[in-house]
Amino acid sequence: MARELDTYRGKRDAGRTPEPVPDARPLPAGNGDTFVIQEHHARALHWDFRLERDGVLVSWAVPKGLPLDPKTNHLAVQTEDHPLEYAAFAGDIPAGEYGGGHVIAWDHGTYEREKWTEREVKVVLHGSRISGRYVLFRTRGKRDWMIHRMDPPPRPGWRPVPALVQPMQAQPAGALPAAAEDALWGYEMAWDGERAVVYVDGGRIRTLDGADREVTAAYPELRPLGAAMGSVSAVFDGEIVAFDATGQPSTDRLEQRRTAGTPAAIGRLVTAAPVTYLIFDLLHLDGEPLIDVAYAGRRRRLDELGLAGPSWQTPPYFPGGGVAGLRASQEQGLAGVVAKRQASTYRAGRQSGDWLIVAGHGR
Ligand code: MN
Repeated sequence: MARELDTYRGKRDAGRTPEPVPDARPLPAGNGDTFVIQEHHARALHWDFRLERDGVLVSWAVPKGLPLDPKTNHLAVQTEDHPLEYAAFAGDIPAGEYGGGHVIAWDHGTYEREKWTEREVKVVLHGSRISGRYVLFRTRGKRDWMIHRMDPPPRPGWRPVPALVQPMQAQPAGALPAAAEDALWGYEMAWDGERAVVYVDGGRIRTLDGADREVTAAYPELRPLGAAMGSVSAVFDGEIVAFDATGQPSTDRLEQRRTAGTPAAIGRLVTAAPVTYLIFDLLHLDGEPLIDVAYAGRRRRLDELGLAGPSWQTPPYFPGGGVAGLRASQEQGLAGVVAKRQASTYRAGRQSGDWLIVAGHGR
């Protein structure tokens, strides 16, 4: 393979982008053993995987990032060779320029080359965030490759994002837990929304409703939650709520969203009846299953993520104080509270007395 940077230069104007645009002088020669991964928030999030070779960075755009699971191969699209100086680049490529968007230095390090042919590249990476043996192999044309991890997952106990965690259901209760037990419970507002479990993997989300039906396309405003998580995988439990102009949850607006059939109708309603995903539980985080962790611990891990975006929020929960919680719910015109036993684990797909839904008196 001849290595040159004409394609790279042709796509960029040094006056308009902060990326390095070297002129046609001889290429700098490095040690030939470095790699870099840049997280690139372009129109579609991807990770640029670059291996130094013959004085340039041979590059692939990997939409979901390098797989950690040897059972899952990821698409890797070969892009133009980049100059060695690009390894140090992080920052913003202006909107409208080629690859416009934010670039984060995700990892870099050295690699050992085990094999390098026109259609197969086998390397061992030594980075700070990612290490291990990977093989890239060409599948179709010159650009389409797959990347496969040949080593076991990076740490013992690491688990891929589960395909399905059925939501735990609350039991209707006529009253709050007894006052003597109040401190053992945590309280959340009841939102009367649509139950939704969101799976985040490789910067992409999948949204399933309370009956495990895929509703991802119905709520496009949740998609940036995937990019906001970057390379961190997660499973969230929560409710999708359509607030009206006064800030009250609107069941009418939510119903419009649920029944909007076509992408055009959905697109109109994103503006007219936007939704917010209210996240109240964290069932998996970065390779770690959390359903056997107590509710209070899951909530702490969730709150530490500090998730707040244009279309998602993490509403607070109150450890103890059921009476005040129920009063606050009524004052805000909400449906009531959900009491959750702080020591309880997540009972997927089950209705459990560890979660109680207590209706407010005003409804
Ligand atoms: Mn890129």
